[in-house]
Amino acid sequence: MRRFFISSQAIVQGRAQLSGEEFHHLRHVLRLGRSARIALYDERGATYHGEILRIAPTYAEVGITKHQSAVSSSLHLTLAQGTLKGRQMDLVIEKATELGVYAIAPFVSAFTVVRIPDDKRAERTARWQHIARAAAKQSGSPPPEIRPPQSFPELLHSVPTPSGKLIFSERERTLHLKEFARHATQFDSLHILVGPEGGFAPEEIEQAQAAGFVSVSLGASVLRAETASITAVALCQFLWRDIRSPLP
Ligand code: SAM
Repeated sequence: MRRFFISSQAIVQGRAQLSGEEFHHLRHVLRLGRSARIALYDERGATYHGEILRIAPTYAEVGITKHQSAVSSSLHLTLAQGTLKGRQMDLVIEKATELGVYAIAPFVSAFTVVRIPDDKRAERTARWQHIARAAAKQSGSPPPEIRPPQSFPELLHSVPTPSGKLIFSERERTLHLKEFARHATQFDSLHILVGPEGGFAPEEIEQAQAAGFVSVSLGASVLRAETASITAVALCQFLWRDIRSPLP
């Protein structure tokens, strides 16, 4: 069944109004019409099954027949990613969404190559949200919250104290993620930091450690930032997500 993103606010008393890009896709690309059965999902990961009741010039009205709340994962994983060049960042957003991250928090640090001007932040965030929604549509995972880019110190301060905290560093020589996992308990919430193309400055790793982050390695090879991110997310989900909620 075709899936479309809808804001939960566009669903009132069992009826949904699908407009904008999703309507364009439904009507002009897929050419769906009255009586077609479709699935909708919202920003909280809830899924709705329904039937198109009416096609208006700019929206489709959908009658909801079934509603399913989001399946909650046992792990809320937030990927904090140093902003990367266009395609690499898009790739990280797409793959992290497929892998079911809860939130993505881009940040700008000392060796960040890509600096996003203040007046472009909202636009860039909207673009990443769009990529995440498309990836969520494909994978069936709820779309993650995409936060606007922050500075590195702002990011460190924004992480709640009870969360598990890891900083991935190619300079870490003693503690591999595998070794860390051997002694770690289950997390409800985990924040992971992956640096930009230029990596973290040594003092940033110290600042993160002072803020409670544990520095871990993914092995002796220096991975490209996007490879490190996707690997880190996949491994953390493998290690901690599915223990209490196996995949359906
Ligand atoms: N500073 C390095 C340089 O320019 O040669 C490389 C930085 S690396 C491309 C970007 C980010 O990927 C790092 O900040 C780190 O978070 C992550 N990373 C890459 N390889 C890693 C490894 N073996 N273990 C842990 N993290 C790694």
